[in-house]
Amino acid sequence: MFNSLVSFFVSDSALPVIRSRKWAITGKQKREKIMAQIVRRGVCLVISAPSGAGKSTIAQALRSSDANLFTSISVTTRAPRPGEEEGVHYYYRDLEQFRNMAAQGELLEWAEVFGRGYGTPRAPLEAALEEGKDVVLDIDWQGYRQMKKALPGDVVGLFVLPPSLEELEARLRGRQSDSEEEIRKRMQASEAEMSHWSEFDYVLVNRNLDEAVEQARSVLEASRLATGRSSFKRTAS
Ligand code: ADP
Ligand code: 5GP
Repeated sequence: MFNSLVSFFVSDSALPVIRSRKWAITGKQKREKIMAQIVRRGVCLVISAPSGAGKSTIAQALRSSDANLFTSISVTTRAPRPGEEEGVHYYYRDLEQFRNMAAQGELLEWAEVFGRGYGTPRAPLEAALEEGKDVVLDIDWQGYRQMKKALPGDVVGLFVLPPSLEELEARLRGRQSDSEEEIRKRMQASEAEMSHWSEFDYVLVNRNLDEAVEQARSVLEASRLATGRSSFKRTAS
């Protein structure tokens, strides 16, 4: 998909093929205007972390500063929290509906996290990447593993670590979204989740939120420029 159009000047010495052609035509001209098109599929940045480390805050900060990022809405079997809305935060489905979606191949990845089903709808995400739109997903490490396998050329993984377990627990409590029992479950799972950090392409520690967002944005920007997912067309004007 066409993603950006760049116009620039290339010096004679940078592109010997162009230089020799230009010399043949004009003899004296030293520079030639080249129109370059970089064509690429979208990047899918997957951010994972133990619950409470700040991945959805970071992902949301990236989305709100970049209107071109496609937002993928996950499906879950957990109940909506106060203030959450169907089709905005999640699609809320019962276990049977969720299993049917998984069995029909409607989910690109899915996993059981803290005893509930979570999954990424396939069709909208694949269409976005095909159109060259970038996506930021905040999902668990099992989902990342499946995504990396399904779309190896599109997926870039970023793992977010908390500064400490004490801080992780404080953030879970500070969020005021989960019961004591749920917080206990999430803390219990956190060390096992963190053991997967090295499967990811990048890792950061979310101490200062602004710094963490900047680091995540750098990963996204660098991934957008990766030669591996770009093709390059050029035409002389
Ligand atoms: P996750 O999506 O990983 O479960 P959240 O993004 O919901 O985590 O963050 C958990 C809580 O921690 C939220 O209340 C959020 O505002 C807060 N938080 C996130 N990053 C930081 C940070 N760097 N410092 C302090 N609090 C943070
Ligand atoms: P929460 O219940 O706090 O919204 O989400 C719990 C955990 O589920 C998150 O920490 C995240 O890792 C995971 N999660 C959310 N959406 C998805 C998804 O679509 N797929 C997978 N695999 N995990 C998800």
